Amino acid sequence: MEDQTENKVYEEPEEVETGYEKCDACGSNMKYDPQSNMLYCEHCGSKRAFGTGEQAEELAIENALKEGNAGSWNEETKVFRCENCGAKVVLSKAETATCCPFCGTAQVVEADELAGLKPNAVLPFKLTADDSNEACKKWAKGKVFAPRAFKKNLKAENMRGVYIPCFTFDSATFSRYYGRVGKRHTRTVGSGKNRRTETYIVWRNISGSFNHRFDDVTVTAGSKVTQRDLGKMGPFDSNNSRSYDGKYLLGFTSYHYEKDIVTCWGEAKRSMDAEIKRLILSQYSYDVLDYINISTSHADVTYKYVLLPVYAGHFSFKKKDYNFFVNGTNGKVTGKTPVAVWKVLLTVLAGAAALAGLAYLVMQFM
Ligand SMILES: [Zn+2]
Ligand SMILES: [Zn+2]
Repeated sequence: MEDQTENKVYEEPEEVETGYEKCDACGSNMKYDPQSNMLYCEHCGSKRAFGTGEQAEELAIENALKEGNAGSWNEETKVFRCENCGAKVVLSKAETATCCPFCGTAQVVEADELAGLKPNAVLPFKLTADDSNEACKKWAKGKVFAPRAFKKNLKAENMRGVYIPCFTFDSATFSRYYGRVGKRHTRTVGSGKNRRTETYIVWRNISGSFNHRFDDVTVTAGSKVTQRDLGKMGPFDSNNSRSYDGKYLLGFTSYHYEKDIVTCWGEAKRSMDAEIKRLILSQYSYDVLDYINISTSHADVTYKYVLLPVYAGHFSFKKKDYNFFVNGTNGKVTGKTPVAVWKVLLTVLAGAAALAGLAYLVMQFM
């Protein structure tokens, strides 16, 4: 009998082409340098300008949605062969830029090797890894309840520059709405012993139409950074993103989207809906919302598939790991710090003491 397993062919991961840049002066590897906005040779210090620096274009969403599969992809692991040292390097899921672990050559997967939609915009890093470490320290200093030792020794390890895949959407919205809001009033009723104040609500029907133009509503399409983290690090000046050029990615890690544009567009619409509701209601003075019904249509919808720059690092303190994300353009940090219990207790006690003191004073004057 034939052994089935022996006939099974081991499937090699698909090989992809990567791009890299060599220094003209010394032949070493070049990386993107956030400070000069040029390629930089760490070996001899040479710099090289590249690209036209033109602003990224907005693309009509219809084209992206028409492509049948709506730009979703699901591919197995990929590898590339490092041309510098010959090593075969495995890329983790969705990874599109990395450095060869054997020789350090910065590599970027060629855009036409990517499945589905190709990135068309990139917001380049402005801060260096050192800058982002400083930003972390400053941020931790402002955390009142964090232990002193944590603030003093904080040095994020393995601060890595990572490009996060996101979709941004523009839309001209037109909404019709109707609903009912109420305002609380008080009146005095009864007389003599029964005289009292009561609250009543005056209801008012509202309806109308509302226009609002949204610009660059950003939805994260990767799995590394959550929407909440993205918001906390924001704003990212995605309107100033450049036309996609793989050279911006040299020396950094980058990822391809894992959530397709249909899903992301759905999320963007939900956040636009919430904003429209907030804006409509802000036109009225009311205390209670009974209900509001809003129907919205979208026109001139455009998108960008943009890579946003984030530094990711962690710091271990008392055997626990604390993760940070830092906006690679403005240094805004998101993350958690440990809490010194005694500091919290002291604050609570001080609050209680102040209250007791106040009560004592009041008693004195009663
Ligand atoms: Zn060089
Ligand atoms: Zn190599």
